[in-house]
Amino acid sequence: MAEGKRFDGRVYLVTGASSGIGEACARALGAEGGHVVAAGRRRERLDRTVGAIEAAGGRALAVTGDVRDEAVCRTWVEQAISTFGGLDGLVNAAGVIGSGGLLETGPEEWDRMMDSNLRSMHLLTRAATPQLIARRGSVVNISSVAGLRPYAGLLAYCVSKAGVDMFTRCAALDLAPRGVRVNAVNPGVVVTELHTVSHAVPDYPAFLERSKGTHPLGRVGQPEEVAALVLFLLSDEAAWITGATYSIDGGRALASAR
Ligand code: NDP
Repeated sequence: MAEGKRFDGRVYLVTGASSGIGEACARALGAEGGHVVAAGRRRERLDRTVGAIEAAGGRALAVTGDVRDEAVCRTWVEQAISTFGGLDGLVNAAGVIGSGGLLETGPEEWDRMMDSNLRSMHLLTRAATPQLIARRGSVVNISSVAGLRPYAGLLAYCVSKAGVDMFTRCAALDLAPRGVRVNAVNPGVVVTELHTVSHAVPDYPAFLERSKGTHPLGRVGQPEEVAALVLFLLSDEAAWITGATYSIDGGRALASAR
């Protein structure tokens, strides 16, 4: 096992570890000595993440299921305990996007977004909390620039991510007396499978090209850049940070149309 790394021997449950930002967080934690419980629905993709961590000398376990299911969340925590002895941190990265404004968003789509992006976070964080208290652990939630800024035609996603930000602040206050930190990051457009899996934009290459202009730094982000911030927030270097929402978006949240 790797020696003298930031997360040596600590255990992290990462949702969305089969793709994109969650996968990048899982791999980065593994590379820095963390024991990773990689959660998602697609077994073969989780096996790929675990294989990459093990090939780099780390330890990881793939756990499958739907994060919207409370029993699944409890099982993932139990699997972390039975395999690695406990839990030092949680990265809530699982999420989906959709499209549609007020008129287009029916109750079904509203519920899909809230259940996947927000209720899931409540379920899993609650399930993990006793373990996190026992080890004075840390949680990082993946929110979005859409939690900070409204976008036309993106109603349910924006509301779900604003909910993630407030969930982060409330949970941080609730758990601070127990020594557990809770923070969130708010990425701009990051190259992952989010938009293609959900068919959220009609032409993804054109969307990425257009995004260069909507991000003041002139480019979109990569999952590894978000993972670097997540790892900082999980680490002891961030020991005095809780309830914070950090933009990592090339300046996107600063920009408004002119
Ligand atoms: P990806 O589509 O690449 O990854 C999403 C992950 O979430 C997959 O691993 C998927 O796993 C998992 N997931 C989704 N729904 C469920 C579910 N019901 N149960 C279990 N796992 C689920 O997208 P990103 O990596 O981009 O997304 C990660 C987070 O980052 C999301 O919360 C997203 O909103 C946020 N974000 C992304 C941005 C971007 O531009 N990419 C910008 C801002 C925020 P599986 O399919 O195996 O179940």
